[in-house]
Amino acid sequence: MEFRLVADTFQRLEKTSERLELISILASLFSHADASNVHMIVYLLQGRVSAPYTGIEIGLGEKLVEEAISRAFGVDKGEVERLYKELGDLGIVAERLASHKRQMTLFSEPLTLERVYGNFYRIATASGEGATETKVRLLVDLLKDAEPLEARYVVRIPLGRLRLGIGDATILEALALSKLGDRAYREDLERAYNYVSDLGHVARLLFEEGLEGVRNVRPVVGIPIRPALAQRASSLEEILQKTGGECAAEAKYDGFRLQIHKKGSDVWIFSRRLENMTGLFPDITSAVLQQVDAEEAIFEGEAIAYNEETGEFYPFQVTIQRKRKYGVEKAAEEYPLKLFAFDIVFLNGEDLTPRPYSERREILESIIKPGDTVVPSERIVARSVKELRDFFESCVERGLEGIIAKDLKAPYIAGARKWAWIKYKRVMKSQLSDTLDLVIVGYYKGRGKRAQLGIGGILGAVYDPSDDTFKTVAKVGSGFTEEQFVELKNLLDEIAIPHKHPRVVARIDADVWVEPKYVITVLADEITRSPNHTAAWDGERGLALRFPRAVSFVREDKGPEDATTVEELVEMYKQQKHVKVGEGEDSY
Ligand code: AMP
Repeated sequence: MEFRLVADTFQRLEKTSERLELISILASLFSHADASNVHMIVYLLQGRVSAPYTGIEIGLGEKLVEEAISRAFGVDKGEVERLYKELGDLGIVAERLASHKRQMTLFSEPLTLERVYGNFYRIATASGEGATETKVRLLVDLLKDAEPLEARYVVRIPLGRLRLGIGDATILEALALSKLGDRAYREDLERAYNYVSDLGHVARLLFEEGLEGVRNVRPVVGIPIRPALAQRASSLEEILQKTGGECAAEAKYDGFRLQIHKKGSDVWIFSRRLENMTGLFPDITSAVLQQVDAEEAIFEGEAIAYNEETGEFYPFQVTIQRKRKYGVEKAAEEYPLKLFAFDIVFLNGEDLTPRPYSERREILESIIKPGDTVVPSERIVARSVKELRDFFESCVERGLEGIIAKDLKAPYIAGARKWAWIKYKRVMKSQLSDTLDLVIVGYYKGRGKRAQLGIGGILGAVYDPSDDTFKTVAKVGSGFTEEQFVELKNLLDEIAIPHKHPRVVARIDADVWVEPKYVITVLADEITRSPNHTAAWDGERGLALRFPRAVSFVREDKGPEDATTVEELVEMYKQQKHVKVGEGEDSY
């Protein structure tokens, strides 16, 4: 396929501020693709060449890209730098230089999608001596033959600055519309995607085998499955009511969620965001090999630093020290982790996701041999509020966050927040029962002292899965240090866009709009009704946070679709009412 078509489409997507239009523009691009190249479009749309879990990233730094531009267009590097300062976007610099060159050269080999993707793949995987030179050469090769508009994207892709902000759901809907004639088939595609976490693979399967092939997708050892998520309950009664009067309740550990895959003597460990983190957990890897009695398995657990002597759990900050890569061995010695295994989705060739939780749990317990590191999560089966409350209180006393109740009959629902899992956390006085994870959709320049920083607050939104949009709920201006504000501004300027993003629904303006990408955690005093915010809009008012303050910097472990959902916000709003009318049950 001609790359020209892809570049034209990218340009149209950039100019669009309507979500349905994004879908139809994309669907029309997909209608030109076939089974051999549809995955290339899907990956390039996301600025990648492979599924995120593979860890294969194009990532070229600005300096190398400038070098390639200078060589491709025969201008010196100083000139490229000067143009970059003037135009603020290396993509536009390349576009401009390509259009000058166009007037001079007569013919070149037109770029194809296959060639662009192929070069980027080779850039992403080049390694060893001479890799840097190889990468620059591969980029020069593309730029030399690029039309001006193509050059814009050939430069933005490796810099990770495509800024199209196309979400997974939008791609799935466009594929469904293009290949199956109806956006509603997104559900089937999403189900497959939840099992293999690879949009490119799902797209190719759809083109090769149609709907049938997509419906037959099962979990595969070595490929992460998108994790099941928990709903939030406002009372223990609600938990019993949602689970039919009987449920399991497990301790809720505040650690790292790990998805562990084992095949013979190979072990893979994936994070909640499906990054391969095997290298960070050598202790857990060897414990899995010793303690897990299965040839092939995919199971999940929460890893948390634990003091064997006192029986206490360390706070999350201690557990997370692992993320600083150097010192893995040292951290493993000082703060050994325990892995509380809580679910299993695949065992020796069998997909366990359709089986009820009670059976999966039995199977999980049967394959864990006694040992110090891997243990099944603590749990009870409860039939009354009293049993749930007693267990909840004993967990809180030991410094745990609360409990996660599980519907005994529910299948494992990959990638979705359903009532199969229900969390119930301890509540602090005069605060909301829980923090919220907000997506930053814009920022404000700041007044007074903040004016110097150039940023005084952000506009935060919650996620609405029903239409794949982000709806605003608060302006957040406190909780960040000055240094954090400066760092935040730098991050946000990288993803600034000239107009409100098509997936953002807002009634107020931001000074600078950004692509919905970064998530922060906030705490607030109260949720109130407000005509300014669009979350849970009832025709006149939406929901807003009172006195919101950031309690985290940008969350590395959460993407925009992992933010608090509108539904959860509404639950929290209701829960706070409960607290007010004095249902002591909720006010821990
Ligand atoms: P939250 O992140 O507050 O939505 O809570 C859900 C998270 O709790 C899961 O993603 C897990 O990381 C964590 N978790 C801790 N203990 C358990 C457990 N026993 N079962 C399931 N999830 C757990």
